[in-house]
Amino acid sequence: MTYKSRLLIYVGTLVILITGMMTLSFRMAQDVILADAQEHLRHAAHVKQDQIRAQREELARYTELISGDLRLQEALYLVLQLRAGDEGLLAYYRRQFGALPVDVSLILDGSGKVLLGQADSGLARQVGRRMNEMQRGHFYTRSPRGVVMAAMAPVVYEGEKLATVVVGRILSQDWLMRQEEGSSDYVLFFEEGGKVLWSSNPACRGKDVDLAQGELRGDQEYYRLHPVELAGDGGGEVPQLWLGISETSLLALLKRYQHWAQGLTAGGGLVVLLFGWLVLRNFSKPFMQLMHTTEQMMNGKLPTMKRSSSNTEMDRLVNRFADVLDALRREQDEVRRVHKKLQESAIRDSLTGLYNRRYLQEMVPGLLAQVVRDGRYLTAILLDLDYFKRINDRYGHLAGDAVLVHFATLLKHNSRSTDHVFRLGGEEFLILNLADRPQGSVVLANKLREAVASQPLRYQGQDIPVSVSAGVSCCFGEQGEGSLSRLLSEADKALYEAKSAGRNNVVVHPSCRQAESNLRQHQLKLVSSTPDNIS
Ligand code: GH3
Ligand code: MG
Ligand code: MG
Repeated sequence: MTYKSRLLIYVGTLVILITGMMTLSFRMAQDVILADAQEHLRHAAHVKQDQIRAQREELARYTELISGDLRLQEALYLVLQLRAGDEGLLAYYRRQFGALPVDVSLILDGSGKVLLGQADSGLARQVGRRMNEMQRGHFYTRSPRGVVMAAMAPVVYEGEKLATVVVGRILSQDWLMRQEEGSSDYVLFFEEGGKVLWSSNPACRGKDVDLAQGELRGDQEYYRLHPVELAGDGGGEVPQLWLGISETSLLALLKRYQHWAQGLTAGGGLVVLLFGWLVLRNFSKPFMQLMHTTEQMMNGKLPTMKRSSSNTEMDRLVNRFADVLDALRREQDEVRRVHKKLQESAIRDSLTGLYNRRYLQEMVPGLLAQVVRDGRYLTAILLDLDYFKRINDRYGHLAGDAVLVHFATLLKHNSRSTDHVFRLGGEEFLILNLADRPQGSVVLANKLREAVASQPLRYQGQDIPVSVSAGVSCCFGEQGEGSLSRLLSEADKALYEAKSAGRNNVVVHPSCRQAESNLRQHQLKLVSSTPDNIS
């Protein structure tokens, strides 16, 4: 797997991890917040239940107060037993208990007939039913305005039950609104058949209640619900009381938090991706550069590497590598230079710098091929310094060396660019030349001889006269293989003759005349074989 794909996998895993962690943390926070809200709602419902119980107990106290009033008992006795008029009873009751904070206030006789106060049919029916079942207690019943919370107690006079006192409070729309004091965070309502009957929030009236989820959706508000139990039997006729707590702002908060979480996740993912891209760019680029360079090096090249100005480890590595490459290149140049020098020194004579005998052997095949190919003369001028032994003996070996260098310099200066000049050994030199005519080489040999003779070497304050003898031999290219050794031995013969003739001499071997006649025949052959001549 490549480094790039591996990095992509790491970055991808990191992005997934960040997304997972953010989602999980959001879900956990949401669960905690909602569970806390649920707990808060349950607690609020219990508090509400306690408040209603307190109101109910208050009603029970009122019934005890009324039923325990002696003068009321006497008045009732008078009305019920002695058939007196009820004006006194009514006046007394109004005076004594008219200010009690109740919505319903009734006194019924033993048969359920209302002696005092007014009751709708539902309330009267409930009271009648209760009177048969129990003496005192509380109950709930339904009225057109709301649920009636009622308490009842018997009025007993001298051991005999005269009547029943009932006081009640209508849990109406107003009552519901008073309980919540107009708070929009809470809603208290009665529900029947999945619909809101009366509510502390008038906007919720008639709305559908989601009983399964325990939710109520108002026009703008969303409420989570908890039932508030009304202790006491409503005979199945009493609607259910619910307390709702608004989760609108909470949900908005959670939504906002969710958006933040999503934004942070996306941002985090982007940062990781950007980071990955930067790493890839900063790391992969020099890495690929190194890979490419090493591949080139394996193919025997030493490429130049672009240096980086930044100071990261990878870039420092690239720069080091570039340094190593530079050093290798310098090393390679040095090796090449030394190699060239070695090659040169292998074919050159160390004293005079002229080609040596070894190079003569090396260049023979090329030279011969050229001679045959071009159909030209190959001439040899073999030169040998005269009485060189004497110079050594007289002026010393170092002076002899200086004479050799002096002579070599003269050879270099006077020879032509097409001449190949060799020191064959000792004080013996050779000039090989490819020429159109042999005469040029004879002229060159004489020119050299005269130059040497006329320019003695000035050595340590004294002139050392030098002379040279030369033998010139020629061959025509068509003579082919073996012609070079023949050429050299013929030049040697001519040189021997020059020495014998008294030295400081140039002798031309007859091969040069032979070569010239060969050339003429060759030229004649060429002329006669041309189509023009045949015709
Ligand atoms: P001739 O005219 O017949 O050629 O006589 P010569 O003295 O030149 O010939 P000979 O072959 O007798 O002597 C050549 C001498 O050259 C012998 C040797 O000591 C000397 N010699 C050979 N190589 C070198 C060299 O590299 N340096 C010096 N100084 N002398 C050399
Ligand atoms: Mg010699
Ligand atoms: Mg000699």
